[in-house]
Amino acid sequence: MTRILEHTDDSVLVGIVPQDCGNCGQRTDRVRLSLDVVMSSGRDFLGIRSLATTPCCNGKRSAPYPVEHLARLLDHLKDCSNPH
Ligand SMILES: [Zn+2]
Ligand SMILES: [Zn+2]
Repeated sequence: MTRILEHTDDSVLVGIVPQDCGNCGQRTDRVRLSLDVVMSSGRDFLGIRSLATTPCCNGKRSAPYPVEHLARLLDHLKDCSNPH
């Protein structure tokens, strides 16, 4: 599992191998993962995806992280008081 730096009820900030942000080009070593509801233009529910937000510029992109894993992790962090 990736290194968890901090978390809220619906997102988790994880450490990553330093890389250039795809959005602004700034070097970043962390990314915020959250679940994102995907709707069609007609506002139909299409599904859930993992969303990665880079803290440098709030750039958003789909995260290559399984939705079920992220959902379970967020759920776990909600009532777990252990440091991660
Ligand atoms: Zn950026
Ligand atoms: Zn735990």
